[in-house]
Amino acid sequence: MRSSAGGASFASVLVRARPPLPTEASYGHCARTEGKKVVLTTETLAPAGDKRTKAIECQYDKVLGIQSGQQEVWETVVPLVNKAFDGYNVTLFTYGMTGSGKTYTMLGPTLMESAFEGTAAPTSSHIGKDNNRGVVVRVMQQIFKQVPEARVSLNYVQVYQERCYDLLQPASTKPLRVREDSQKKPGQNVNVFLEDLTEVVVTNVEECLEYLILGFANVAFRSTNYNEQSSRAHCILTLTVQQQLGDRLRESKLRLVDLAGNERWVMTGPQISPQHARELATINRSMHILGSCLQTLSKPPVYKRGIEVDRHVPYRDSTLTLLLRDSLAGNSYTLMICTICCSVLYQMQTLSTLRFADRVK
Ligand code: ADP
Ligand code: MG
Repeated sequence: MRSSAGGASFASVLVRARPPLPTEASYGHCARTEGKKVVLTTETLAPAGDKRTKAIECQYDKVLGIQSGQQEVWETVVPLVNKAFDGYNVTLFTYGMTGSGKTYTMLGPTLMESAFEGTAAPTSSHIGKDNNRGVVVRVMQQIFKQVPEARVSLNYVQVYQERCYDLLQPASTKPLRVREDSQKKPGQNVNVFLEDLTEVVVTNVEECLEYLILGFANVAFRSTNYNEQSSRAHCILTLTVQQQLGDRLRESKLRLVDLAGNERWVMTGPQISPQHARELATINRSMHILGSCLQTLSKPPVYKRGIEVDRHVPYRDSTLTLLLRDSLAGNSYTLMICTICCSVLYQMQTLSTLRFADRVK
């Protein structure tokens, strides 16, 4: 648990391993899951030239192995989602290398396939019943099941190279300006918002899904190469739930964040273009800052003469953390879903993802 001037906040880490793809089947494994543990075997070259293997074992709040389905992910996520109906802000992240299953976990295969292949978008009723539907779809269903009287609205934003794009607007639209509310009251956080961001009121799951499909199609069409750009951008879907409790209004934000791929330079090789290098540097920086914010917030608060000492949380250092600030601090629940592949092909990426998970848990 972590606490801050704004209230209590809780963070946990789930590691999910995806099954091997046909292209990886002939290679060995370097990672396995065991209860709440992930065991990673790494090979290093000793000075004499012989190989040394080392096993690293890490424990997390929850680990789901390669057999795990979308339903099991949901069972881990649902208690947190229900906290949103009690007034907490809830943020779910997916973090991992490109191809490790972030988008699969969030959206599910049906929605993804149509975007990849440019085929007609699946209908909302089809996605809503699909057993492999992702966390995002299930969150929408949970809201309308649990708090049917609530006022619900949503927005969908892509952060690419520190710029914010409205995914509910045509792909050609200019980036949005990040604004700060000047009406700050003493002791309160500055309200950060995006100017002219589309916020739509939704009254049922089907409507939510239609906006999700529209936004996701914009992720795909925003660039000529879906795979390339989408893996270098963060996508944030925010669902705002308002409940009228007598004369009081309870508002909470549910944020679903598909983070940019956790890539490594080694993988891209020496042919990397200056533009690509800049992009990777920006992403690595924003991930590092996200990690620093979560790490600082996870430490117990320090008191001096009974008053909590203000800690420096570097929200301002990246667009992503600035936008997520009100969700990370104060009354909030955060779940980092770290996705990994067990193949030896991605040993270093997996190590890097597990290290990140370790840092924020
Ligand atoms: P990322 O968003 O991390 O780049 P994707 O979600 O696009 O990765 O997944 C990469 C590939 O792996 C896709 O073909 C996807 O269908 C498949 N995949 C990912 N996770 C799973 C899973 N848990 N079960 C089956 N296939 C998966
Ligand atoms: Mg993805």
